[in-house]
Amino acid sequence: MEKSVSKPYEEWTLTLPPMSQPSTLYALKPIGIGTPVVESLTSYIARLAEAHCVFPGVLMRKIIAPFAESHPMGTRGSVAMDLRDGKATAAFNSAHHRARNAVNTVESLTQQHGLHVLTMLPWTEVFPLFGLMRTDRAWCPYCLEEWQTSGRIIYEPLLWAVQAVKICAQHGCRLETHCPKCTRTSRWLTWRSRPGYCAHCYQWLGRDLMRPEETEPETIWICWCAEQVGTLLALAPTLTNTPGRTRIHEGLTAVLDQISQGRKMTFARFVGLSDKMVGDWFYLQQLPSVENLLRVCFAVNLSLQDFLLEKQITCTLRPDGTQDLWGRSSRQSGRGFWKTAQVREMLEAIAMSEETPPRSLKAVARQLGGDPHSLKIYHPVPSQAISDRYAAYMSAKKLATEQQFCTEVQEAVSQLIEQNIPPTGRNVALVLSKPGILRSSVVREARRAAIRERQNMRNQSKEFPEKAKSVV
Ligand SMILES: [Zn+2]
Ligand SMILES: [Zn+2]
Repeated sequence: MEKSVSKPYEEWTLTLPPMSQPSTLYALKPIGIGTPVVESLTSYIARLAEAHCVFPGVLMRKIIAPFAESHPMGTRGSVAMDLRDGKATAAFNSAHHRARNAVNTVESLTQQHGLHVLTMLPWTEVFPLFGLMRTDRAWCPYCLEEWQTSGRIIYEPLLWAVQAVKICAQHGCRLETHCPKCTRTSRWLTWRSRPGYCAHCYQWLGRDLMRPEETEPETIWICWCAEQVGTLLALAPTLTNTPGRTRIHEGLTAVLDQISQGRKMTFARFVGLSDKMVGDWFYLQQLPSVENLLRVCFAVNLSLQDFLLEKQITCTLRPDGTQDLWGRSSRQSGRGFWKTAQVREMLEAIAMSEETPPRSLKAVARQLGGDPHSLKIYHPVPSQAISDRYAAYMSAKKLATEQQFCTEVQEAVSQLIEQNIPPTGRNVALVLSKPGILRSSVVREARRAAIRERQNMRNQSKEFPEKAKSVV
């Protein structure tokens, strides 16, 4: 008799599959890690808020700030997590301690690790904070449009936030900073910000009409800068040893020896910077800004990556020279320029002009390629006039805005009382178009004053019902 052979049962593995630790917030994956267009931390936070269907301001205030506060680690501060008017949010992308706090907190909440590469934290030691990041948002409208058309996720690369990057290397166009509709600039993260949209009028910032590409000789230089910074950002996740402060001084000394045999003034002329600035790097061990470090590297045909990470630095002067590329500002940086009558006349003309809004002294100095401090020292009278005019304009503007907010709050209080709803701060906030205005102490006082006024009116109508009736 034939014996039937039954098939053996398949073997089951009864151990549970590995489960990642649950996260408090959605474990959103950051975009572009390991590429030059890695996402910025502010963009990541804005997308994280969007994934939870709340505004970034709400996410920061209600979740991230309280979490940072409750955490016993001293490196986390909750105050710094509040967005307020967004002015300081560039620090989230920088090498500032705010970036460190934000990275720690967001990593704990999302269980996504390695978020420090969404900031300039890997380069803390080699780049000084001053002039590292842009305070206002910048974007390439063609990148945004391309991503939207091809159905990709809209985000803001960290590269756009770096001050030394002026151009989109892919499209060869300057990064834009002003909304095409309302012409205003915006901050990196605000209460309602959303990547790719204006923070004020919510206009889409992408554009598909290709402008003629930049053809100035300066383009080669600014394109090179964007590529160099992009390469560094792409390298960040693979770095085992981040370069330290001493690396800058070793590198500069090596370049100085090879290019000008140790002569600092000759070196300063080659790189188109002032003798004093170059002297400060060597004598006071000051760190050059990213832009100036890029200048040095460009002048000596050296990539920023090799300058910071290569063991042996070998360089030669760029054969075609660099003097034509660094335009007006580098030629003006000579010692005597700031004292000249030419600068004084320019300042006087600006101080007398009727332009609205007036420019601040800082903006004027930036436009002339210098710093407000030298302007104040060499031309105190017109500099003071510029500062005074700007201060008067700003305080008038603040007053007008506050007045408008107070009126809005008073109307909200009346509206709530008429509907028999108590005009508490929370209820008033629900009626307002911008609930954030209640953060101002003046506006909060206006709410209390409006309530008192309504109470007085009610008391009067109780005391003199006849009169009140006749008034009605
Ligand atoms: Zn682009
Ligand atoms: Zn706008």
